[in-house]
Amino acid sequence: MEAEIGQSVSERFQRYVRYDTQSAEESKTYPSTEKQKDLGRRLAEELGELGLRDATIDQHGYVTATLTSNMDRVVPTIGLIAHMDTSPDVSGKNVNPIVHKNYSGQDIVLPGDSTQILRLSETPELKEQLGNDIITADGTTLLGADDKSGVAEIMDALCYLTKHPNVKHGTIKVAFTPDEEVGRGVEHFDVRGFGAQFAYTMDGEAISEVENETFCADSARVTFRGVSFHPGYAKGKLANSIKLASEFLEELPKNTDSPETTEKTEGYVHPHTIQGSVEETVVKFIIRDFELEGLKKREESLRALAEETASNHPRSTVRFEVEESYRNMKYVLEKYPEVVEKAIMAVRMAGLQPKLHSIRGGTDGAKLCYMDLPTPNLGSGMHNIHSKLEWISIQDMKKAVEVILNLVKVWSEAPD
Ligand SMILES: [Zn+2]
Repeated sequence: MEAEIGQSVSERFQRYVRYDTQSAEESKTYPSTEKQKDLGRRLAEELGELGLRDATIDQHGYVTATLTSNMDRVVPTIGLIAHMDTSPDVSGKNVNPIVHKNYSGQDIVLPGDSTQILRLSETPELKEQLGNDIITADGTTLLGADDKSGVAEIMDALCYLTKHPNVKHGTIKVAFTPDEEVGRGVEHFDVRGFGAQFAYTMDGEAISEVENETFCADSARVTFRGVSFHPGYAKGKLANSIKLASEFLEELPKNTDSPETTEKTEGYVHPHTIQGSVEETVVKFIIRDFELEGLKKREESLRALAEETASNHPRSTVRFEVEESYRNMKYVLEKYPEVVEKAIMAVRMAGLQPKLHSIRGGTDGAKLCYMDLPTPNLGSGMHNIHSKLEWISIQDMKKAVEVILNLVKVWSEAPD
């Protein structure tokens, strides 16, 4: 029988999630955990078995392969990217995927820990899944749909294309990356060697979403300096940098501009670490805004506040340093509007209502955008990620495969 779209995606997904590929925040190696390569080697083998060219895993754990064009004219080379690692927040060892067939809105009690219950009332996205088959873990681990669903969907789409040589496509580059969850997914990624002109990560949540925006992000380090003196004889001499820092922090907005008071496209400043003694106290911040101008304004007002605080205290000084983290990928994607437009077309062709979405964070794609590879992010169907209640539906994964195939199709119709 002829292979259908999405035929192997559920089987692949359930197989891939059994590999423990948890990455590690504190590790000094690359990839951060060696075990990620176990899945990587398997994927490289499978890509080779499908007949892709140059299927390989390199010393960093990057799995890459090429599906050669079957067209007689040149069209843009596109890349499909997903990450293999899972979050350090929840164990990914001995993941036991369970299929809950024909979901009818009932509570799903996970058998390995009956306190883990997936409820329709707490999970509005489940409303769209009535009648579908939901996959969860057993309650003792995360599922790993983030991002093995993306991996399985790309693999299934490639499998479909290799089985249907009549379907026209340009050259397609594939990459499966390690260490995305620890923010180092593209640290050693060779964009030029990869050879795609545009790429898509399959690493978003709802399958109708096209993510074309991330925060602009910086970190700031505010160093207050005081004067240390023997406390018994310190009158008029000692300046306590700890008190200075707390005075400064006390002046930050209380009901706005913080992670705990903002959502959607609102930015914030967020002190996350403080360390100090009488002589020197350092406060570290992350600063976020969707607009670069807004980011700079936040930094300037933070700097002004720090300087004003210090100026009220003789013998005290402050140093304010900013370091760039990443930038909103829209500034790059705006220069290549066809990349997002084609993603929107591909979603619509799958019968879904496309939604542009902004990520309140960064992605590997955001970094790739600034490494000369414009890369928006598409939804793979994953939900409740980084938790034991993570889930995905088989029907959504099949739809996501359809979106990938549509994307391949619309690019094959593009002029070079
Ligand atoms: Zn992810």
